Amino acid sequence: MSTAELVSTDPCTGEAIWAGPVGGVAAAIARARAVASDWARTSLATRIAITRAFKAAVEAESDAFARLIARETGKPLWETRTEVASVAAKVEISITAQAERAGEKGSEAAGVRQLLRHKPHGVLAVLGPYNFPAHLPNGHIVPALLAGNVIVFKPSEQTPAVADFMAGVWAKAGLPEGVLNLVHGGGDVGRELAGEEIDGLLFTGSAHVGAALARQFADTPHRILALEMGGNNPLVAWDVTDIDAAAATVVQSAFLSAGQRCTNARRLIVGPGSDALVEAVLALADRLIVGGPFDEPPPFMGPVISNTAADGLERGWVGIVAAGGRVLRPLVRARADLPFLSPAVIDMTGHAPSDDELFGPVLQIIRVPDWDAAIAAANATRFGLAAGLIGGDAARFDDFWARSRAGIVNWNRPTNGASSASPFGGIGASGNHRPSAYYAADYCAFPVATLSADALGGGITTGLKP
Ligand code: NAD
Repeated sequence: MSTAELVSTDPCTGEAIWAGPVGGVAAAIARARAVASDWARTSLATRIAITRAFKAAVEAESDAFARLIARETGKPLWETRTEVASVAAKVEISITAQAERAGEKGSEAAGVRQLLRHKPHGVLAVLGPYNFPAHLPNGHIVPALLAGNVIVFKPSEQTPAVADFMAGVWAKAGLPEGVLNLVHGGGDVGRELAGEEIDGLLFTGSAHVGAALARQFADTPHRILALEMGGNNPLVAWDVTDIDAAAATVVQSAFLSAGQRCTNARRLIVGPGSDALVEAVLALADRLIVGGPFDEPPPFMGPVISNTAADGLERGWVGIVAAGGRVLRPLVRARADLPFLSPAVIDMTGHAPSDDELFGPVLQIIRVPDWDAAIAAANATRFGLAAGLIGGDAARFDDFWARSRAGIVNWNRPTNGASSASPFGGIGASGNHRPSAYYAADYCAFPVATLSADALGGGITTGLKP
């Protein structure tokens, strides 16, 4: 076990807000393994009751929870309140999904019963990202616990305080000791966990880490691996009539959470005659308040997670400017020692837009001559998480839906609008075909088929020698 210490800081001030030891993977797995079969054999009714107690405890502590997420991530308080609400809402959604997708089903004919039931995998690792440090790991944890798995949870090294808080709420809800085990640390601890005797790993994070995990899992195909990864999401604006509403949808798609959502639109694709829309987007972006989570008036967006992330975004910005982009609004970092960035917009028409995920407030505009070129531009990415169309009519959207390569395809809604009651996941470099949210129940359990009868019966009627 490592004795190194992890420190988490408030991105708005640099002040340390949490410190604790990293590592302890083997011990956490041992604790989980020791109670795995007890938890698997605990009745579903009891597991449901505990998850509902968790929901009640989250609601009771929602203010402190939202404030902590805001403090550790820098996201505006209004936004972290919605994150906490999503954590609570996940419980009933997961209970329904568990019943509908991993429940029991049977029939009987001639005294033989056919039965479908599901079993948990055992010990599952959950690796979380920093951008939704509660909601996204929770989206794996709740369905995994309902299905009867035990968990070793390694949150992002940037958000350990939120993870500690959430684990504490589970304990208060009566989750037996050892069922949910927290380990802290960065990529090295995540890699160690993936290489240990676990039965599966549920990951939300970047595509390159997901690919590294897939390589680590290559020799153990019996272990379940669910990868929810990033995107380079296109938003196509076509035949837009309500310019203000369209601009608002573009700005929300691109800049919510300071561009730190996997579903943020990274590329706005527009046809001929779109100058008024582009101008409206710029005018609205100019009005966005960037500030600390508790500021009044409330900001639209906070800082990015860290100075390191801001440095990386500044490098990425320099790269796309150097590739020939025409800067419409520069990426401005008001103070070099803090990670507040302004919303940036660049016209990349005629230049190869970056297919890296710039995980921050950067929107690339691509002008195309016709609809087929718009579809080609939208699909010109190795990712396939979210895609959106604004404007047009139902027939246009049908065509967009049919030709888009993405797991979330929206019309007249921001790309980052997703329902927790739907499956959530992408194709290409965005996932490995194990969508989460409503479908998380699928990868948290495996089906067991049974034929049974009360008594032995039948005999061999063909193919026997007299
Ligand atoms: P990240 O990939 O850097 O880290 C995610 C987790 O993996 C963290 O816990 C980290 O410590 C761990 N990790 C890092 N390197 C590892 C390694 N080599 N082996 C094992 N574990 C390792 O992601 P992030 O920066 O925390 O989050 C942002 C990324 O997450 C973006 O790419 C975003 O698009 C993506 N994301 C995807 C979804 C989705 O549902 N598809 C949702 C939110 C965020």
